[in-house]
Amino acid sequence: MDTSRRDFLTGAATVAGVAASGDVAHADDHQHQDVPSDVALRVKSLESLLVEKGLVDSAAVDALVDAYEHKIGPRNGARVVARAWVDPAYKQRLLANGTAAIAELGYGGSNGVDLRVLENTAMVHNLVVCTLCSCYIWAILGLPPVWYKSAPYRSRAIIDPRGVLREFGTVLPENIEVRVWDSTAEQRYLVLPERPAGTEGFSEEALASLVTRDAMIGVAKVTPPQTGGGRG
Ligand code: FE
Repeated sequence: MDTSRRDFLTGAATVAGVAASGDVAHADDHQHQDVPSDVALRVKSLESLLVEKGLVDSAAVDALVDAYEHKIGPRNGARVVARAWVDPAYKQRLLANGTAAIAELGYGGSNGVDLRVLENTAMVHNLVVCTLCSCYIWAILGLPPVWYKSAPYRSRAIIDPRGVLREFGTVLPENIEVRVWDSTAEQRYLVLPERPAGTEGFSEEALASLVTRDAMIGVAKVTPPQTGGGRG
């Protein structure tokens, strides 16, 4: 809950460095970069300058980042998923009209943005990307991860989705169909992950706590609590 802005920038620097090297997979292996990336330095300089000139307040920036990271998302998306898992009628509405069903829970996108929900099943796995830029459902998932916006992810998700999934620790048998969905400014996607086995007695809230951002982008699956860990 208390990820500081500094941690956030450090994380961004690490992943930006990885993205620049064209390697999405090893984000976790390079967490101790000595020199921050150009992007991180530029962001920090810009922020310092704005604070110095009294145009923004550091605390306000921190609050905004914290809100998008922890409060707005990806918890909103997780609540949508958990509701769909426990309420078959809601799930049906969600798959038929994502925008309307998500609005039922009080969440929304920007005006004119169509939210479509893609259901993962035993035979189909969905993966979301924006090949053009970084279209993402902020209101449901919060801040997009840096790798989502990186050129390697954007191109490789289309060219080699199974390879990308493997690098996130998601190894899918060949008989599972992988569908890749390219987001646009008007059309955005939320993956409805499969409910993990062993969660039959779970409350909606407990289920929501299992759902991760990565699972709703489609690079990971939701893992049951007893086998937890990994990148889930
Ligand atoms: Fe985009």
